[in-house]
Amino acid sequence: SYQSLYQATDGFSPSNLIGTGGFGSVYKGRLESEEGVVAIKVLNLQRTGADKSFIAECNALKNIRHRNLVKILTCCSSIDYKGQTFKALVFEFMTNGCLENWLHHGIETAEHQRTLDLRQRLTIVIDIASALHYLHIECKQPIVHCDLKPSNILLDDDLVARVGDFGLARLLSTITSLSNTSTIGIKGTIGYAPPEYGMGYEVSTKGDMYSFGILMLEILTGRRPTEEMFKEGYNLHKHVRAALPNILQIIDPVLLPRKFEQTTAAIEADIDMENPTDLH
Ligand code: ADP
Repeated sequence: SYQSLYQATDGFSPSNLIGTGGFGSVYKGRLESEEGVVAIKVLNLQRTGADKSFIAECNALKNIRHRNLVKILTCCSSIDYKGQTFKALVFEFMTNGCLENWLHHGIETAEHQRTLDLRQRLTIVIDIASALHYLHIECKQPIVHCDLKPSNILLDDDLVARVGDFGLARLLSTITSLSNTSTIGIKGTIGYAPPEYGMGYEVSTKGDMYSFGILMLEILTGRRPTEEMFKEGYNLHKHVRAALPNILQIIDPVLLPRKFEQTTAAIEADIDMENPTDLH
């Protein structure tokens, strides 16, 4: 409830702020109803209506559970934050933070090494593939993630990768006046979103697979997707491409063979902007 959430988070003090993303700020906190530490995401949407559909959508998301997904614990349809009313989502807290930090900002903790070795990186790729397999194929209603990128991949106590923010695209489209997920802002992040999203195409599981391809290259090489990389046709990643057949064998054979080969083939073909639907 509003009250317990508010009290538990110590009035959202800056010291509890973990990070700020595209859709709001994430705070570390505790809930009376939950044991242990939680992550509270305050959604930075001014519109406070549509509570029923928000709660219904959250309840549906609560049932989506997988070893490689960040669990949604609860939601709050009206929370007092900096003098205004917002909606919030509560997730299990991921002690080892996000992949963005591990890949690009050097992690210093007492218990863990600072960088990920190749075996750990491959394991993370497989973890993300498992999560996508679940979201796309095993869920009754396929869930398109729409925003796969390193800051949405979180690492738990055992450095198991957990995909966060799944279902957020659909959730946000239910509580804003936007009619669908084709609206700017819910369609991913430049560098990770497939080119056709910028051309007005609907989000799709195929689009997620494109983002996954980019993400995988970044995890394995440690290099962010840059504009130069697009221009150079990913020549930087020759060695990763050479390793792909072996990686594909390790990754869930049900998920991959076709879609993934097509994703990587699209990257290699330097992305044919004339035929966005043929990308994947
Ligand atoms: P973005 O939009 O960039 O993905 P988010 O708003 O999802 O950012 O999250 C901001 C930051 O908060 C993330 O980079 C991550 O470090 C942290 N974070 C998000 N969810 C959790 C969680 N469940 N546990 C621990 N940290 C989290």
